[in-house]
Amino acid sequence: MSDQLTDNLHNLNSWMNSRNLFLSPEKSRAIIFTKSGSIRSPPPPVMSGSTPIPWTTEHKYLGLHIESNLRWRKHVEMITGKISMANNIVKALCGKTWGAHPSVLMGVYKVLAVPHFDYGCLVYGRCSRELIERRFPEHTLAFTDASVSRAPDSVGYGVFFPSMAVELSGRLPDHWSIFDAELFAIGKAVSEASERKLRRLLVVSDSLSALEALKSNKFDSSVDIISMRVRNTLYVANSTGCAVSCIWVPSHSYIHANDVADRLANQGRYADTAPHIPGGPQTLWPRIKRDIRGSWIEDFLKSCISRGRIYSLYVNHHNFPLSPWFSKIDKPRRFLIAVLRLKSGHCLTPAHLHRIGVRDSPNCDCGALGDIPHIFLSCEKHVVRTKLLYDKLSVLDFPLPLNIYDAIFSTKLEVLELLMQFVRECGLTL
Ligand SMILES: [Zn+2]
Repeated sequence: MSDQLTDNLHNLNSWMNSRNLFLSPEKSRAIIFTKSGSIRSPPPPVMSGSTPIPWTTEHKYLGLHIESNLRWRKHVEMITGKISMANNIVKALCGKTWGAHPSVLMGVYKVLAVPHFDYGCLVYGRCSRELIERRFPEHTLAFTDASVSRAPDSVGYGVFFPSMAVELSGRLPDHWSIFDAELFAIGKAVSEASERKLRRLLVVSDSLSALEALKSNKFDSSVDIISMRVRNTLYVANSTGCAVSCIWVPSHSYIHANDVADRLANQGRYADTAPHIPGGPQTLWPRIKRDIRGSWIEDFLKSCISRGRIYSLYVNHHNFPLSPWFSKIDKPRRFLIAVLRLKSGHCLTPAHLHRIGVRDSPNCDCGALGDIPHIFLSCEKHVVRTKLLYDKLSVLDFPLPLNIYDAIFSTKLEVLELLMQFVRECGLTL
């Protein structure tokens, strides 16, 4: 193996030298990556030219401590050290009643601590589970997860204690959100731990929002009943001698026990019937919101049969946007109203004026039917500007030849601006 590496290094060296690049053998190290991290007898050294490259089990490269077992122990230790230094600085800047504004502290934290987490996290982010155990000695680990499906509605939770091989799973009320279910799973882990009289419990959850909700000391009418119950469970557990800590891990991070909890949560969803667990009004809100939206869409589609034909053709029936089309367009009201009139067809074209009984004939002065497509694309009065509009739209990669409604219902602001420019230059009133 060493000979092969030496050969390859030789090739690499000559390739680099021919490009005026030089490898520094003094700064180079060779590592064998193994599961155990150690090899009984190191193979003969790899040679770069006449200089041997020493074998090693760890090396710092580009700020990352690489170990031969790829567990990242040293690197994580280094980051924790750096971050606790940053935290101390933040602590020095404030007290309970004095000190910097929270947003300033947040800024300091983001500048001093977060980059240490971020740097290289793609590489070390899947570090060994042992590290969790090292940080929380003598803790019993409980992995929690929840699963929600909306077609049809079913919600489940899963809790897994790897050291005791205890698996808990079950179904939850169908209308619960993933947040409720994640909280419930954490509560379940804690109550199981206190029943078994565990002294130290570490709950590992992939739901940051659930953990944040438990961490915050908010106590008012807006706090939902499920997180109140879980907090109560935590309080009871703590006061009966079971110290509970929580830690977040990203979901699907290839931690086996996490996958087990995920599987249990999925299994839970398939239990026969959903139990009735009383929750507060908050647990019902997502369901109520979904139902209202669903019935609104149904009504809208029904009403489209008799009116708003063009409008209904151009809205996406399967994915109604949650915010109106103009919410992200920073333009004067005049602009928005003009676009809205074009979209709805309720504008001062001869055809529309005729429809509402203001004008005798639906025809344009040029003799053709005076509707919106005519005015933009085929009226002889605006031939030159129509040509210009075409040209400019084609610059924007707009599909040509064009149905003018494609442009009117476009989500691109530039397209709408061109239409409005056309209207302005032709002296049209909408
Ligand atoms: Zn015309």
